[in-house]
Amino acid sequence: MLERCLGSRRLRQMQRACRRGSLTFLCLFLTVVVLRGTIGAGKFGTPEQDLNEIRQQFYSRGRRVEPHRVLEEVQSTETNNNNDNNYATFDISKILKDEEGGDDEKRDPNIPYTLGPKISDWDEQRSEWLKNNPDYPNFIRPNKPRVLLVTGSSPKPCENPVGDHYLLKSIKNKIDYCRLHGIEIFYNMALLDAEMAGFWAKLPLIRKLLLSHPEVEFLWWMDSDAMFTDMAFEVPWDRYKDHNFVMHGWNEMIYDEKNWIGLNTGSFLLRNCQWSLDILDAWAPMGPKGKIRDEAGKVLTRELKNRPVFEADDQSAMVYLLATGKEQWGGKVYLENHYYLHGYWGILVDRYEEMIENYHPGFGDHRWPLVTHFVGCKPCGKFGDYPVERCLKQMDRAYNFGDNQILQMYGFTHKSLASRRVKRVRNESSNPLDVKDELGLLHPAFKAIKLPTSS
Ligand code: UDP
Ligand code: MN
Repeated sequence: MLERCLGSRRLRQMQRACRRGSLTFLCLFLTVVVLRGTIGAGKFGTPEQDLNEIRQQFYSRGRRVEPHRVLEEVQSTETNNNNDNNYATFDISKILKDEEGGDDEKRDPNIPYTLGPKISDWDEQRSEWLKNNPDYPNFIRPNKPRVLLVTGSSPKPCENPVGDHYLLKSIKNKIDYCRLHGIEIFYNMALLDAEMAGFWAKLPLIRKLLLSHPEVEFLWWMDSDAMFTDMAFEVPWDRYKDHNFVMHGWNEMIYDEKNWIGLNTGSFLLRNCQWSLDILDAWAPMGPKGKIRDEAGKVLTRELKNRPVFEADDQSAMVYLLATGKEQWGGKVYLENHYYLHGYWGILVDRYEEMIENYHPGFGDHRWPLVTHFVGCKPCGKFGDYPVERCLKQMDRAYNFGDNQILQMYGFTHKSLASRRVKRVRNESSNPLDVKDELGLLHPAFKAIKLPTSS
């Protein structure tokens, strides 16, 4: 009868559909049974409970694993009172136990301080090494030396809660510049010589790195409180081919005035050679902490123009060394004032908008500074020489100013120099390789590697 009503073809189709349907149903049933076995049925194991459990199981899988959550709940009820899981209330000094270690090697105070065993044939040792290691050339291309940028901070967490965040921004900024310019980077957090703590810590570190990396032609020291604000500017390496030490500074301020701010040691270039080891040796003696550093500070304040009273610092010591030893050192020192190897933040940061309006990256000079250095801000310390709000606000502006040049490569920019948030400045393209980044920083010529031509 059915056959007559629907026609035999139609009935066969229906029967096939029924068979398929019951197969699907069987599969579903088996899935439920298996899942029940894995996750267990509820107390009564009703189909509705099963379904709820399955739903929950899938839902929680997407976010976090169920047993973990259960464990967390048990733990938090157990330890709620002593707050063990709370980072905000944890006292970091609990795990920083060896802070004031008494096991530092004590030096005989009658023996003058040295950075290490005297070396007088470094140029020979190094050129021999370079000859034997042709895979590690000290020049990547003609006029492009192999450069190692060195920076660092204290082994301890900062003395204020946001200091480490600014150190992170600052190293991120340096990584960006170095990647773009084919420069290697070293971040130091170890105090290699307890006597040379603070701003003197760079000296033993620099010597160690020069001697360990003969392949490095120039070492670029940069303070942790200095940031790159021109990502496009390439140092004119050729200009220094006859010099060993490049700092931002002015000859007259050093050699005529002996002014303690005639140069800045927050960012400088030092060639890997015997001459540099010698100047490090001549620079170091005022560094040892305590009586030596304090007494040397008095000499520096007396001898240098406008220097306040405080212990000897590496910058004043360098001004003093050059001013009193021009014949010995002056010839190989290049005091650069054409661009900002170091730029004082106080005169630069408020002008960023004006720079954006009138110029573009790539100049490195007053139009668009290469480096903005937050001298005196002490972002990782307890007290600085300026109001904290001003320092941090200006550091954010400098960071964003530099970061905009990185973001533009990918079609973004910060909403403003004060904003962490970003906005899109280019539409996405289905031909991503045709997109030209304005500053040409994705594949700049100064980063290209020149392979030796095969014969
Ligand atoms: N520094 C370091 N280890 C320390 C303390 C300081 O490597 O334990 C470095 C850090 O990079 C810092 C630099 O020394 O930026 C000089 O100090 P600072 O910048 O505070 O001096 P300023 O530039 O304000 O004179
Ligand atoms: Mn500094």
